[in-house]
Amino acid sequence: MKQEEYFKKLTAHAKEYGFVFQSSEIYDGLSAVYDYGQNGVELKNNIRNYWWKAMVQLQENIVGIDAAIFMHPTIWKASGHVDAFNDPLIDNKDSKKRYRADVLVEDYLAKIEDKINKEVERARKRFGESFDEQQFVTTNARVLEYTAQSKEIRNRLYAGMDANDMVSIKELIEDLGIVCPVSGTRNWTDVRQFNLMFSTKMGSVSEGASELYLRPETAQGIFVNYLNVQKTARMKIPFGIAQTGKAFRNEIVARQFIFRMREFEQMEMQFFVRPGEELKWFAYWKEERMKWHLSMGIPPEKFRFHDHEKLSHYANAATDIEFEFPFGFKELEGIHSRTDFDLEAHQKFSGKKLHYFDAELNQSYIPYVVETSIGLDRMFLAVLSYAYREEKLADGSERVVLMIPPMLAPVKAAILPLVAKDGLPEKAREIMDTLKYDFNCQYEEKDSIGRRYRRQDAIGTPYCITVDHQSLEDNTVTIRDRDSMNQERITIDKLTMAIAQKIRPQRI
Ligand code: ATP
Repeated sequence: MKQEEYFKKLTAHAKEYGFVFQSSEIYDGLSAVYDYGQNGVELKNNIRNYWWKAMVQLQENIVGIDAAIFMHPTIWKASGHVDAFNDPLIDNKDSKKRYRADVLVEDYLAKIEDKINKEVERARKRFGESFDEQQFVTTNARVLEYTAQSKEIRNRLYAGMDANDMVSIKELIEDLGIVCPVSGTRNWTDVRQFNLMFSTKMGSVSEGASELYLRPETAQGIFVNYLNVQKTARMKIPFGIAQTGKAFRNEIVARQFIFRMREFEQMEMQFFVRPGEELKWFAYWKEERMKWHLSMGIPPEKFRFHDHEKLSHYANAATDIEFEFPFGFKELEGIHSRTDFDLEAHQKFSGKKLHYFDAELNQSYIPYVVETSIGLDRMFLAVLSYAYREEKLADGSERVVLMIPPMLAPVKAAILPLVAKDGLPEKAREIMDTLKYDFNCQYEEKDSIGRRYRRQDAIGTPYCITVDHQSLEDNTVTIRDRDSMNQERITIDKLTMAIAQKIRPQRI
């Protein structure tokens, strides 16, 4: 199946089975805003809980907080968001479509990258076992030409962005002959900077009201609370503060379902370290976060690191964990060494001392910060796009199954009486009334057992428990595994243990 078609089916499935709905759908929707349905909210909660468990419960030196979305407006001045949280936008006059100018250039660069990869693959086939990729990419004339071209374009893009020179970005787009993917023309407007923060007003009378921003990231709530937490929890450096919550960005282009939303949720952790030790901790968190992703059982080839060449003004190292979405490898999580940029800025703008006293060194300093920042909705999309399968079965029939890692599945077990008579529903209800205290379960008695299995497959329920006539005699049931479709018989009193064991995460 082509990736585009796969993605279309996935989004249709997400709606049909109550995972994700377009916001305000009966009013024709609100662009890039989504609601989570009855199964979506369970999956989302499970991902968030698993992140929290890994980042707070399993870490002795990390605690969590929940800061408000509204914050003092000067915070966003100090953090640099008021002046610099901009994206360059450009419109095509024929299609009237709006794009991020830097993304148009990045897409062009990705095409050059593809050409290089094709050359490498062709050569690998030609040379077979003796192929030396490193030697090939540093000597092959065509590859060298592509690499030089790509470097020059990148330099021009970065120079233009750093100097806030939107005229040079427009020139770059024109020189490269980039056309609008919709109209196919080069009829572009000028490039303009656009601030991504949403603003609103606080206060009841309009004259006295002050302008506020909806937070574009959760991190600042942690920075401004860092001493409150450090003192009240008596934390010693190195220590971390974790938080999950909504963030808002007025994204220019938001087309890939829940990949890029205007209202979304982040899961962030800021780790406070001694100045000079930040790169050691950056390497540590890079590895830890990748281990977290792999602990769910999604294969490693779906993930890769992308180290940043161009760093933000506040960072001295940065990497993305990219996931292979149906539309290619894209950022899922960012890991940044943010130096003391934020705390220094808050100290300056608030006039409050934000130093930490390090008793071991007998020294007071502003800590450096390494952060891990992942989008909950993007993680949701990663899980869903890995999980969606269409399978042909041995008997010729087909099924759609969501192979969601069992610990994240919305419903852990379905309890199904084989038929809705002969006392089987009563027995099944008894089981439901026990299991529901430990797991999210569903009871279903309508339709044939085969159809009920399919419905549970489609929402990713890892275990179906079937109560049949034998159950009444010997207190056993069958438990069917979603992925293998194998069934085994076990006694009812062993069910809780059996399910708990199956949905427990691997050790990170
Ligand atoms: P991008 O380059 O995709 O715009 P970013 O580098 O601006 O992302 P960060 O500011 O590092 O993203 O935010 C951390 C994480 O928050 C991202 O890795 C992503 O998972 C998530 N995220 C950021 N913007 C959005 C959005 N508009 N919708 C959904 N998730 C988002």
